[in-house]
Amino acid sequence: MTVKEQNEASRPSHFIRNIIADDREKNVHQGRVHTRFPPEPNGFLHIGHAKSICLNFSMAEEFGGKCNLRFDDTNPAKEEQAYIDAIKADIEWLGFRWEEPVHYASDYFDQLHDWAVYLIGQGKAYVCHLSPDEAREYRGTLTEAGKDSPYRNRSVEENLRLFEQMKNGELAEGSCVLRAKIDMSSPNINLRDPIMYRIRHVSHHQTGNKWKIYPTYDYTHGQSDAIEGITHSICTLEFEDHRPLYEWYLDNLPIENKPRQYEFARLNLNYTVTSKRKLKQLVDEGHVNGWDDPRMPTISGMRRRGVSPAALRHFCEMIGVARSESIVDVGMLEHAIRDDLDKNAPRAMCVLNPLKVVITNYPQDQIEQLKAPNHPNKPEMGERQLPFAREIYIDVDDFREEANKKYKRLVLGKEVRLRNAYVIRADEVIRNAEGEIDEIRCTYDPETLGQNPLDGRKVKGVIHWVAAHRCLDVEVRLYDRLFLAEHPDAKKDVDFLTHINPDSLRVLQGCKAESSLANAHPEQGFQFEREGYFCLDRFDATEDKPVFNRTISLRDSWSKLDSEN
Ligand code: ATP
Ligand code: MG
Repeated sequence: MTVKEQNEASRPSHFIRNIIADDREKNVHQGRVHTRFPPEPNGFLHIGHAKSICLNFSMAEEFGGKCNLRFDDTNPAKEEQAYIDAIKADIEWLGFRWEEPVHYASDYFDQLHDWAVYLIGQGKAYVCHLSPDEAREYRGTLTEAGKDSPYRNRSVEENLRLFEQMKNGELAEGSCVLRAKIDMSSPNINLRDPIMYRIRHVSHHQTGNKWKIYPTYDYTHGQSDAIEGITHSICTLEFEDHRPLYEWYLDNLPIENKPRQYEFARLNLNYTVTSKRKLKQLVDEGHVNGWDDPRMPTISGMRRRGVSPAALRHFCEMIGVARSESIVDVGMLEHAIRDDLDKNAPRAMCVLNPLKVVITNYPQDQIEQLKAPNHPNKPEMGERQLPFAREIYIDVDDFREEANKKYKRLVLGKEVRLRNAYVIRADEVIRNAEGEIDEIRCTYDPETLGQNPLDGRKVKGVIHWVAAHRCLDVEVRLYDRLFLAEHPDAKKDVDFLTHINPDSLRVLQGCKAESSLANAHPEQGFQFEREGYFCLDRFDATEDKPVFNRTISLRDSWSKLDSEN
């Protein structure tokens, strides 16, 4: 077996893969595999979409097929070009390539219109003037059959004339709709004469002012799949009850190659909301700083936070594809992110709350270039230079005047190792007029670079540091989960906003980062030793003012099992 084959063999199989493999074997769809990812451009993509993207694109890749990107743009009032651009960027960043060109459901508006005329001609569609309230009443309920609309038996000619008037903008918005004539007593409510077209006098981001009527999602989706030669139309479970309608349109129109729809369970994550409407509300009301705020579960938010495409793809593979609804623990996503960064992120040092240390026995103007490995277990990742000097910064939390043995950091009168450098001993605390600690005076042992003290003194603690006059002044943004509640939108009568974590963002100014971080670029994650994983902010960092985002802490501080933090 080649490495690639081994990889594929070790992937957990799932029912969609089995169906496709089976179809290929039986030469269904002439053995072709053509999937599509059909986002509505009314918001940014989130982690749930990532699951759908990975599934659709990887099935095409695995079976030597194709995957289209199709914007499902039937609701122009809520759609925007900015969303289209963001969605394309997200898919590319995840590492997938759609089959060119990009498609739009609106590319098919002419064809869909002609097919609607065809259905009217067949006596299978009619213009209905029931008001929305009346239509609801006529529709019936889950336990009660619906009633036929009084407009159901209009002549073909009258329907054609009215539909033409709808199209020409001669009828007011909301005055009527075009409906499929199926079965008002069907146990499946989706088949009770569903709406095909609505009048909307709004312009469209792709078709301008050409259309005054817009097709519904249900009337558009299957036919768009058919036009593009899609073989496997994969969607989430809420469309299962729409499948008979999807098939009704394909069966009642002159369409030869029929795609098939398959449903899988959507991704739900605890501590997270993934409803686009709610994400938009978070943005519009300013609870976060835009769709790509690093706290958002959007693909662009995670990218900005420092999550790699590989980590996200790995997560999507780990959670699998099933037909039963479940809620995935966000800890799994965090684990995938940590795991990826632990393996791949170069190490660096950054002091978040600086405390000055003066090493009194170190020559005044000397600067030494120490060497430090970029990764403790990966020598191939190389080394970096660390300037060492008489004045350094350590973290405020890493010094105490008195402490018991559990505190393995710097204590007055005791020794600690500076990471990648020497052992120092704290001799004296200097205070300001207010009595606060201003600096620590220390002495270093020049014999301890890369080795233990010669006389057998045991130095257990290791702390991070940076050289005071050779470091970068940086802003650090400490991000945490956006919601405190495990199921923020579970209860209908409780506003999900009440569960927002007030400490989801803490901004620290005046942090001191080692000088090598001047070369950092936003898509690269670093482990700031002992602090967590960080990356340069894509948008706010400048050369004068680097800004680092915390991608994730080193350990899971939310887990009930982990009491250390
Ligand atoms: P939302 O429910 O968040 O508003 P949506 O389903 O309306 O999202 P679309 O843009 O229509 O968003 O979704 C594009 C594709 O992504 C669809 O095939 C949809 O089924 C899939 N998708 C959306 N959310 C999830 C999810 N949480 N898990 C898996 N797939 C999803
Ligand atoms: Mg949708």
